[in-house]
Formats: sequence, C-alpha cells, structure tokens
Amino acid sequence: MSRKFDVVVIGAGPAGYVAAIRAAQHGLSTACIDAWKNPDGSAVFGGTCLNAGCIPSKALLESSELYHRAQVEFKNHGIGVGELALDLATMQARKEGIVRDLSGGIGVLFKANDVTGLFGHGRLLPEQKVQYTPHDGEPELLEAEHVILATGSTPIELPSAPYDCERIVDSQGALSFDSVPERLGVIGAGVIGLELGSVWQRLGAKVTIVEAMDQFLFMADAQIAREAQRQFKKQGLDIRLGAKVQATEITDAGVIMKYDDEQGGHEITVDKVVVAVGRRPSTDGLLDPLAGVDVDERGHIEVDLECRTTALNVWAVGDVVRGPMLAHKGSEEGVMVADLIAGEIAEMNYDVIPSIIYTSPEIAWVGKTEEELKSAGVEYKTGTFNFAASGRAKAMDQAAGLVKFLSSAVTDEILGVHICGPMAGELIGEAVLAMEFQASTEDLQRTIHGHPTLTEAVHEAALSVDNRAIHAINR
Ligand SMILES: Cc1cc2nc3c(=O)[nH]c(=O)nc-3n(C[C@H](O)[C@H](O)[C@H](O)COP(=O)(O)OP(=O)(O)OC[C@H]3O[C@@H](n4cnc5c(N)ncnc54)[C@H](O)[C@@H]3O)c2cc1C
Repeated sequence: MSRKFDVVVIGAGPAGYVAAIRAAQHGLSTACIDAWKNPDGSAVFGGTCLNAGCIPSKALLESSELYHRAQVEFKNHGIGVGELALDLATMQARKEGIVRDLSGGIGVLFKANDVTGLFGHGRLLPEQKVQYTPHDGEPELLEAEHVILATGSTPIELPSAPYDCERIVDSQGALSFDSVPERLGVIGAGVIGLELGSVWQRLGAKVTIVEAMDQFLFMADAQIAREAQRQFKKQGLDIRLGAKVQATEITDAGVIMKYDDEQGGHEITVDKVVVAVGRRPSTDGLLDPLAGVDVDERGHIEVDLECRTTALNVWAVGDVVRGPMLAHKGSEEGVMVADLIAGEIAEMNYDVIPSIIYTSPEIAWVGKTEEELKSAGVEYKTGTFNFAASGRAKAMDQAAGLVKFLSSAVTDEILGVHICGPMAGELIGEAVLAMEFQASTEDLQRTIHGHPTLTEAVHEAALSVDNRAIHAINR
C-alpha cells in the first residue's frame, strides 16, 4: 500500500526544506525527499546552499578574510603577529564542521515539525503521485494532495574546459582544495567566480579571472560595479573582460587556458581552473512525460507568479524556476506556496529581492539600477555617501566604497539602493525593509540611526538624495 501525504516536496535545499517546514506548521502531513550525497557517500539535507554553496563559501571567505587582514591590516592597528601561519586543513575542517552542524540541524527541524524526511530520488508521476527510490532501496509510491518540486540547479560545464575534478573543477571542487594553488584561473567573473577567486587570492594564490562579457558585473548598478572593479584591481585581482575561453589543455606544467579577446588569442598557464559560468535548473529524471509539467527552452520548470506549474496541484520553487538563483528567493517562494496550499493569501514581491556578493568590499543591492530607471524613462533622483566619511568604517579600517540611493523624483519612493563597502550584505537589509513598506526617502531621512555605525552611511546617502547630507558636501 502506498503512503499518503498532504504535501510531498522533492528537494531539501533552502527552497524545499523551508516549504516542507512551513507546510507542516500548517498542520499538513508532509514528506520531503532529497537525493544529495556528499563525496564521502553520506546523505544529508540542505541542498547546494548548505553543502556546496552559500555556507561553505562564506565559512572560507570569513577565514581567508581574517588571514588577509592579519597579514596586511593588523599592523595599521598597531598589532604585530610575528610570522603568520596558514593551516588550511584546520580551515577546511572548520568549514566542514559548520556545514555538518547546519545540515544536521535540518533533520532536527524536520523531526520537531513532524516532516517525514526521506533520503533518495523523487520522480513526479501523473496525478500528484511520486515515485520515491531510497538510496540502495526499492522504489515506493507516495500519494499526495500537492507536490512541490524544489530540485535546484547544477553547475554548467564548459565544453572548452571539461572537469577532470582535479585540475579543472566546479565551484564545489574549488571549496575543497587541500593546498593553495600557486596560480589559479577562474572562468566567469560572476558572484561565484568573484567569491571563490577572493578566497584563494587572500590565501596566497595568484588569481586570474577571465570573463566573456565586456562589462564587469553587468547586473549591478554601473557606478557600484566600477567602484568594486577599482577595489579588486587595487587588491591585485586580475580580471580580464571580453575574454572567451576557447580551450584548456592539461599538461605537466599546469593547465593552459586559451582565450580570445579583442586583441586576439592569448594563453595563460595556471595550476588549477575553476569553472564558474553559471548554473542550470536540475530536472534530470524528475518528470514523467505524462506528469503534465512543462519546461521552458532554458530548462526551467514553467510556473506562474504563484509558482503553480502546468500540472494541477504541482508547484515548483527555487533555482529550478525562473528568477535569480538565490537561496532566500527560493525559501520565500517555498513559504508562499505552503501558505497558498493551506488556503492562505500569500504573494511574493519579486521587486525586492536583495543580491549580495561577499567579496571585500561586499557588494549588495536591491531594486532598480540607475541604468534600468534610465531605460524605462523613470524620473529619478540620486544620492550617494562615501564610507570614507563614516567614523565607524574608518575605525574598522574599511572605509572604501559608497552607498547609493535611487528615488522617484515624483513620489520620493525609494526605487533602488546599491552598496559597495563594509558589511554591505547586512546594511542592505534596512533598504529591503524600507522598500517592502514602500517607504519614501524622507522616511529614511527622518529615521534615527545609531552612532557611530555603518548604517549612518545609509542614512546620509538617503539625505544626500535631497542635498541634505550632513557629513558630505552636497552639490
Ligand atoms: C559556491 C556557491 C555560493 C553560493 N552563495 C550563495 C549566497 O551566498 N547566497 C545565496 O542566496 N545563494 C548562494 N548560492 C546559490 C544557492 O546555493 C542556490 O540559489 C540555492 O541553493 C537554491 O536552492 P534550491 O532549494 O532551489 O536548490 P538546491 O539548494 O540546489 O537544492 C536542491 C536539492 O534537490 C535535490 N534533488 C535534485 N533532484 C532531485 C530528485 N529528483 N529527487 C530528490 N532530490 C533531488 C538536490 O540533491 C539538492 O539537495 C551559491 C551557490 C554556490 C554554488
């Protein structure tokens, strides 16, 4: 006899496990299936984010940042540390411990919320039935009132740089190097390429990032992207734009990366190559052709604004559907879908999803860029504030970068906030909340910010929109 649930979720990344917990909180009987296996064969929940993405990368970014600061910044504070030593094995073990704690925590949350967690593969059959095949077990049929597909994404492989999992690796491989490569090539100057490049550069690698596009961080506000590029250049990160990798060759002397740019063909030799050219939705083996779920030409499961697929009572959330491939976007879609299944009113505000790049300085933004407003013909006003005038940023010895506001010239509503600077990922939260509440710039101008904090830079940038910044010379 088949087991019956109100909700079966396929995929336990941040989109799927959050959807499962929320559904269970509504009193719905819920199962969540996940196929993830670590390189050591262990099965865990948490998906890409916890096991090979957000969390391990941030653990290494934090450690490498501390190492770098001890090397170059401590002396500015009058702190001498003698000879600095790098123990990469301990750094990696710390990262793995954090990942283990957090992914193990999901199992605990499942138990506490009465979610049935299942390790293995899920396949959607017609009429909300799911074939569940446990790792090393026989297939079992699950019946559900609703199915949520949350199978995430996988790295895109480049034909010109096929993985050998030793010298040419994907992002997961780049999080697990057991020694610092002397020369590291990164293909792709997107979020993941920049973060991973930063980690290994801070630990001593000579990093070269090649990017096919001519424009650096095309999705960010151009002024912020320019500032970030300037800072990275100062740090010695070698970013080559308009450079298309044509081939790679693994030799005894290293991996030869051959790329073309405007000037013609070039070659560089590196010890390892990280391919970080994007991710594709993961639907292999997921959909029975009769299940009635349509997939678009880019491989995304087709959904409407409420994440309904083309099949009745089948929903899809997270990286496997359109929109930015971000953990918090998937989680929020998971919450919305669980609420809708429970009969509540719920919606997702796709206009207010923060983007964060955890480099140093960090880059974060929400809402429209100046270029988007210009091309849409929106009347806007801008304000900026440099961290160089922030007491807290100076005390932290991290006074590079700026905060930029874009506000409606008609209604004063905040339309976009862009930050390049210390703790930008934390600071953007205030702007996200303000925009979610459709705050005016004046609302922020009249909000008291603690002193001395980095949030004062956000406050001053809001004031600067109307030429009222106190600690900057207004135009
Ligand atoms: C190096 C790196 C750093 C990143 N950093 C950030 C960051 O700082 N912030 C951020 O917001 N995002 C970050 N991301 C992106 C983030 O990881 C993804 O957006 C997020 O994990 C997507 O969540 P998801 O639940 O949709 O999918 P996933 O996390 O990919 O989870 C999907 C799960 O479904 C399972 N699955 C797939 N098919 C099946 C099947 N048929 N049956 C059962 N299970 C299946 C998979 O094994 C996986 O466990 C990063 C990504 C990478 C690679």
